[in-house]
Amino acid sequence: MSEAPESVLVLRFSAVGDVVLTAPALEALRRAWPQTRIVYAVKERLAHLVRFNPNVDEVVTIGPSQGPISFARRLRALRPGAVLDLHNKMRSKALRLFLPGVRKVVWHKRDFRDTLPVKLAIRPYRASMLFADRYHAAVEELVGRTVPRGELRYFLGPEDLAVAREALRLAGIDPERPLVGLSPGAKWETKRWPVERFAGLARRAIAEGFQVAVQGSAAEAALGKEIAARAPGTADLCGKLDLRGLGGFVARCVAFVANDSGPMHMARALGVPTLAFFGSTDPAMFDFEGHSALFAGVECSPCSFFGRRRCPRGHFRCMLDLDEERAWRALLPLLHAGPRAALHA
Ligand code: SF4
Repeated sequence: MSEAPESVLVLRFSAVGDVVLTAPALEALRRAWPQTRIVYAVKERLAHLVRFNPNVDEVVTIGPSQGPISFARRLRALRPGAVLDLHNKMRSKALRLFLPGVRKVVWHKRDFRDTLPVKLAIRPYRASMLFADRYHAAVEELVGRTVPRGELRYFLGPEDLAVAREALRLAGIDPERPLVGLSPGAKWETKRWPVERFAGLARRAIAEGFQVAVQGSAAEAALGKEIAARAPGTADLCGKLDLRGLGGFVARCVAFVANDSGPMHMARALGVPTLAFFGSTDPAMFDFEGHSALFAGVECSPCSFFGRRRCPRGHFRCMLDLDEERAWRALLPLLHAGPRAALHA
């Protein structure tokens, strides 16, 4: 067992989903060392994701204009008693060099034994461990003993629901009627279920008496436009929600439909029943108890760790084999399931 330090510096700079997924590890760390100050280093634009987490005492942000050396000096001035690197990429590896003499524990996203056969195209990727368990293992390594697992939870800021309410009001959404959220985007093309199928789900949900709103970044505006055009009555919020509004919007939904993306993890963390589509990536990385993950299981999938620009085989069957009818059958029970847990506003 390790002695509890005065503070632990947690490094996880991006991306939305990966930052949201650190919540159980932070809770486990807090429970293990309740007196230890937990400082979280993250990109400025994502700080909101951890700002209201009660298991984070201080958030240190790096902006686009801050150089790595001046940021490293800021971190060193904090005099952390230990570093928990849940990022483990170039940025955090470099920063670790500037913190000599400080105990460091580094998580590993995947086992070398899992990744090598995929890189050599010998077999599809199979996650041997839940993503959250890998973060948890790093916490246990740091504290030097087994500790109870934390829960995946997302903590809204005090304004988030109001910000979303206003965006939804402007989009014509009735606050009294149930709302289904759609998130058709994803960074990589092979993580995207076809947009016309999202529109098909929107039409069906509207026919059942639900309101539907589609969410995405400004760069994903075309997806929102297309769904709104194919499913009249759908509110298009693409490009209109910052992280405050995104959390508030997702929390307001009775169900959420998304690709393997940050908003999908946020929805699970908010206890909103979620339908997720997986094609070139592996759903076995995450826990979908109370939710639903669709995966066609074609022989080539999952072919990558985080998605690709295009299907290397050209047929894209991992997503195209997931038809709208199957998705609707998976979504129907979620529409009436009710929230999985109390929301953390
Ligand atoms: S269909 Fe294409 S993108 Fe999907 S898993 Fe197979 S090779 Fe990868």
